[in-house]
Amino acid sequence: MNVNLNQDTICAIATANGVGAIGIIRISGNEAFQIAAKIFEGKDLQEVKTHTIHYGYIVDKSPNASFDVRDASSNMQNDLVENDGLKPETRNPKPENTEVIDEVMVSVFKAPKSFTAEDSVEISFHGSPHIAKKILEVLVKNGARLAKAGEFTMRAFMNGRIDLAQAESIADLIASENEASRKVALNQLKGGITNEISILRNDLLNFTSLIELELDFGEEDVEFADRTAMNKLLLNLRHKLSALIESFQYGNALKNGVEVAIIGKPNAGKSTLLNALLKEERAIVSEIAGTTRDTIEEVIHLKGTAFRFVDTAGLRETTDIIEKIGVTKAKEKIASAKVLLYLYDERDSTTEEVIAFVKEFHREDLKIVLVHNKVDLTNDETPNEFDATLNLELFPDYCDELLRISAKDQTGIEAVKTVLIDYVENLKDQESNVIITNQRHFDALQKSLQSVLQVEEAVSSGIHTELLAYELRNALEQLGEISGEFTNDEVLGNIFSKFCIGK
Ligand code: GDP
Repeated sequence: MNVNLNQDTICAIATANGVGAIGIIRISGNEAFQIAAKIFEGKDLQEVKTHTIHYGYIVDKSPNASFDVRDASSNMQNDLVENDGLKPETRNPKPENTEVIDEVMVSVFKAPKSFTAEDSVEISFHGSPHIAKKILEVLVKNGARLAKAGEFTMRAFMNGRIDLAQAESIADLIASENEASRKVALNQLKGGITNEISILRNDLLNFTSLIELELDFGEEDVEFADRTAMNKLLLNLRHKLSALIESFQYGNALKNGVEVAIIGKPNAGKSTLLNALLKEERAIVSEIAGTTRDTIEEVIHLKGTAFRFVDTAGLRETTDIIEKIGVTKAKEKIASAKVLLYLYDERDSTTEEVIAFVKEFHREDLKIVLVHNKVDLTNDETPNEFDATLNLELFPDYCDELLRISAKDQTGIEAVKTVLIDYVENLKDQESNVIITNQRHFDALQKSLQSVLQVEEAVSSGIHTELLAYELRNALEQLGEISGEFTNDEVLGNIFSKFCIGK
C-alpha cells in the first residue's frame, strides 16, 4: 500500500450520479478543513467545533484559472471531466473575480471521529451533476485529489476504524436489494463475523503458544499443552468452523438469491406457472419507473429472499434440449439451480418417465420438487395412483415434495411458494448466529478448517511438535485474513476496487 496515498486529501461525490434534491461531496484528509475553508463563504471551518453543520456558499476565488480534473486523478469518472477550453495565457487566477457556485450546508467531522478516522467535511449542495462537477473542480484547484473507488472505506480500514470484513459489509450493504441481504450485511458491519472469528483465533493462539513453548524446550520432552484438552479444543474449533462454512449456503441464498429451474415437457404449464408466481410481484414492480420487464420476469421476492428463475426466456428451449440433445446438455442448464420444479401433466406423462428424469437429475445440492399440474382437468382423489407410484419410487431418497396444482386456476401456487421459502429456512443453522455471505471468507474458513484437520491428525499420530506448530500458524493466518490482520496489498486492492467512487 502506498503510504503517500493516505496523506493526500481526497474528495468525491458520495451520492448517486444524476439529479437529486441534495447531493453530497465528501472531503477527507489532513488538509480537509483548510481546503474546505478556502472555498467556503461562511464561518471559518478551521475554527468550528466538530460534528457541527454550517450554512454558507461554495465559491471559486479564481474562476478563470485553468483546470482539468484528469490531471488530478486517473480514476476520474468521465462525465465529470470537462476542459474549460481556455488558452493557457488566459488562465491566470483573478482573486477579485470570485464566483459563487452554490448555497450549501457543510458538516465538519474532526479526526478520529469520522468515517475515515481523518478530518472530514461533507458538503450538501443542490443536487445537480453540474454543480457537483464545479465544486469538485474548485476543490481540486485548492489542493484536494479526486478519490479512487473505495478509497474512503479503505482509509477507514487502514486507520483501524473498521476491519476488513466490516469494510466488505459496507459494499454489501450498498449493494443490498432486499431485506435479507440488508440484514446480513448490517450484522456483519456490526462485527458479527469478526467477533466469532476472533474468539476462534484466541483459542488457537493460546494453544499455539503452549506448543511453541514446548519447542523452546527442545529435547527435554516436556508437554505444556495437555493433549486431551488440545483435542477437545480442536474438536470445538472444527465444529465452529464447519458451522460457519455451512452457513455460507444460507448466507449466499440471502445475499444473492436462490436459483430455481422450472423444467417439464412442452405444454406441461411451465410458463403459466411462472406467470402465476410472478403475478403479484409484477404488479408491484411495474409501478417503479425504469425497471425493465426482463429482470422482473425472472425474480420473485418471498419473505425477503430473492428467487431467480433460471433461463426463463428459454423454457421451451430447455425442454427441446432434453428431447433433442439429451440430458447432459439439460444438466448443464440446471447445474447452477438449487431448486428444480419438475412440472408434469399426468395425461401427457408416464410415471416411468418422471422417475427416470428425477433419478437422472438427482444431485446432493439440488432440491427436486414434483409439481403435478392441471389437476383441475382430472379432479381425482389425492394422491391418485400416478402420484402414489412416484411417492413410492422416489421418496425420500430423490425428493420429498409432491405438489398438486393448477397453474391456470392458480390453485396450489401458495404451496409452491411455501416450498421455496422452506428451502431457505432449512438452510439456516439454528446454532450459529453468524452467517457467512462472502466467498473470500468462505475460502479462508475452508483453508482454516483444512489446517485444523491437519493439526488433529498430527496430534493423533504423535507427529513432531515443529510440524504441529507450523500447521497451527497456518490456521491462524487463514483466520486472520478474514479481519485483515494477515492480508496482502493485492487482496486489499481487489476488495476496494469493487466499491463505487465516493465510498
Ligand atoms: P409450457 O410449454 O410448459 O410453458 O406450457 P404453457 O404454460 O404454455 O401451457 C400450455 C397449455 O396448457 C396452455 O394452453 C395453458 O393454458 C395450459 N395450462 C397450463 N396450466 C394449466 C392448468 O393448470 N390447467 C389447465 N387446464 N390448463 C393449463
